[in-house]
Amino acid sequence: MTWRVAGRPIVTVTPDSYITEVAEKRVELETMERDITPSPQAYREAVTYLRRGIASRRSWRPLARLVESLRFEYYDLAARILEERRQVIDCCAGLASAHLAPDGHVWGCCVRAEPLGNVRDHDYDFRTVWRSARAEAFRASVKNRECACPMANASYTNLLLDPRSLVRVMRNLASVPHHDPAHAVRGPEAGDRGSALGRAARAPGFTIPR
Ligand code: SF4
Repeated sequence: MTWRVAGRPIVTVTPDSYITEVAEKRVELETMERDITPSPQAYREAVTYLRRGIASRRSWRPLARLVESLRFEYYDLAARILEERRQVIDCCAGLASAHLAPDGHVWGCCVRAEPLGNVRDHDYDFRTVWRSARAEAFRASVKNRECACPMANASYTNLLLDPRSLVRVMRNLASVPHHDPAHAVRGPEAGDRGSALGRAARAPGFTIPR
């Protein structure tokens, strides 16, 4: 966004980072009855914009570059999952991660929100729930790819456990950073109402968490 006084540019502000997560139907968010997920086309358009933004302003700081590289890979993965409606890489939810609700219920993931058991029923012994028949059935279902979603938490874990994704992340990490103002992108706030993100951001259900 550029502030102007008497038509002259005074200061230009650009985004610090380009972050997004797909708005999804989730039990925990009470969004199951809402049609909030963007279309694959709208999301692809948005992440293409975000990926260009990341590529145009790479950081020299190691941790920031690593996060950028992971986001770069995640945005493409999330778009592919929406487009192809399948697990593009193996999901490890229920194996590498789990959710523990305040009431003691354990979920394999918060999208399916299927209770694997309740630690309160087992003297707070998580292992009993983790090794239960319901937990095994959940893991088998995920392994059979009976579900797919672009949820960020699970996807980032899945990326870290997928060798081919990791290679791409490492390549991206090692790429030469540069700031190319000629190709730098502006946010929809910049008045660029015709931009890809501007159009996608106006699509139903598209959110850009800050
Ligand atoms: S693919 Fe999505 S819905 Fe299926 S187990 Fe993984 S996180 Fe849950």
